[in-house]
Amino acid sequence: MVPTFFILGLGLMALIIGMALRTLKGKKTSMPAGYKQLLEKHVGYYRALDAQGKLRFEKRVNALLGTIRIHGVRTDLDDLDLILVGASGVIPVFGLQDWRYNNLSDVLLYAEAFDQQHFASSEENRHDVLGMVGSGAMERVMILSKPSLREGYAHVASTGNTGVHEFVHLVDKADGATDGIPEALLGPHLEPWVHAMGENLHAIRSGHSDINQYAGKNQAEFLAVVSEYFFKRPDLFKERHPDLYALLSHIYQQEPGLDPQLHHLELQH
Ligand SMILES: [Zn+2]
Repeated sequence: MVPTFFILGLGLMALIIGMALRTLKGKKTSMPAGYKQLLEKHVGYYRALDAQGKLRFEKRVNALLGTIRIHGVRTDLDDLDLILVGASGVIPVFGLQDWRYNNLSDVLLYAEAFDQQHFASSEENRHDVLGMVGSGAMERVMILSKPSLREGYAHVASTGNTGVHEFVHLVDKADGATDGIPEALLGPHLEPWVHAMGENLHAIRSGHSDINQYAGKNQAEFLAVVSEYFFKRPDLFKERHPDLYALLSHIYQQEPGLDPQLHHLELQH
């Protein structure tokens, strides 16, 4: 086991030193110019909002970006990347007025998928992790694959969104445990949620659900994956999983609108 820890330690050290260096002169992210157009063009959730909602959303993205730093790791950052990170953070908490991500300070965007153990992407490592939130020495750090972040918004009809997925882990983690049970947000719905989660996990694991199989990994992944579905395809999710839809609406205090672009696409079929 020593070599594994040794390699992990080295990887972490390199990353932390690199970040510390950048932090010295680093400042928080500012809202890119042309943010309205970027949101309108790329973010289906934003397109579904009315004019007042759009203004509120822009303010929330601006506020979130002002509290975090975003770093490109072996990749450049475009204005679009900043906007998509901001949008991913705001979407799950848009109904929660005073929400702050106290458990996040830095977001690292990687050029591709990366290896979870080494926080690095190289030929030898498995390229299978699309996003993660750190713990221990990596507390307050989120890592995202840049292509995966972008795909979540480019594929308007899919049920997936990696950026939203990772921010949901932070919402879940806010009460101390990343366990798929956001106690403070559930209130009296805690028991029905745990029950619905158990039933759906069983269906997913036995191949009887349209929910992405990754949700079957554990309770935390279940919450993150069904939340992606809820925010991306509220139409399908409500129709196929009305019980989960009601519970997530309660947790997030909102009912997401349907991307008008999607509505237009579907009418063509
Ligand atoms: Zn996850």
